[in-house]
Amino acid sequence: MPDPDRERRRVFFALWPDEPTLERLDQIGKQLHALGGGRRMRRETLHMTLAFIGEVPPARIKILRQAAGRVAAPAFSLRLDRLDCWRHNRIAWAGCSDPPLQLLTLVGQLYERLEAAGLPLETGDFAAHMTLLRNVHYARCEPLPELEPIDWPVAEFVLVESRLTPEGPHYGVIDRWPLAQGVGT
Ligand code: ATP
Ligand code: MG
Repeated sequence: MPDPDRERRRVFFALWPDEPTLERLDQIGKQLHALGGGRRMRRETLHMTLAFIGEVPPARIKILRQAAGRVAAPAFSLRLDRLDCWRHNRIAWAGCSDPPLQLLTLVGQLYERLEAAGLPLETGDFAAHMTLLRNVHYARCEPLPELEPIDWPVAEFVLVESRLTPEGPHYGVIDRWPLAQGVGT
């Protein structure tokens, strides 16, 4: 008998950095690691989660893709200007001191489209951050280094599958949606 649990796919919507942004984030991860230790996220796994969906049966993927296809939001520039550590889960992250309206609009729309498709998520879950390190020694991270702002041109969002392994997660893009160019930037 096929085991339905084995077929489930762990998925989430995210922003994936372009190459220059990845490069900068990877360097900052290195600096932070020298301070606070822990486990660096591999360069190719760095991302910003927009909406974590979790483990779903394969048929749900189509519904997620349709919902995402109904998002109509502008492309924007995302300024990453903040480094921080969270004590509760011991991650060090880069993010925005003041998330731009376009980012909140994109996330808000995505949540709305998911809800309209019968897949509501907990609202208030979104925190604009990109995990750089896990299991950091929180106290050793202070004072955090200055982050010279990174201006990341966000031109699309993606649906990603996560496969968890003992060496860390492996992510694969299932589908991508461009954001509208030439408006709101
Ligand atoms: P690992 O779980 O092995 O540490 P990971 O957390 O990077 O790896 P996933 O658990 O598949 O991999 O998570 C994928 C993304 O979704 C990550 O950015 C993670 O922070 C985020 N995420 C995971 N679970 C939740 C959740 N319950 N709520 C919000 N975001 C989540
Ligand atoms: Mg996780």
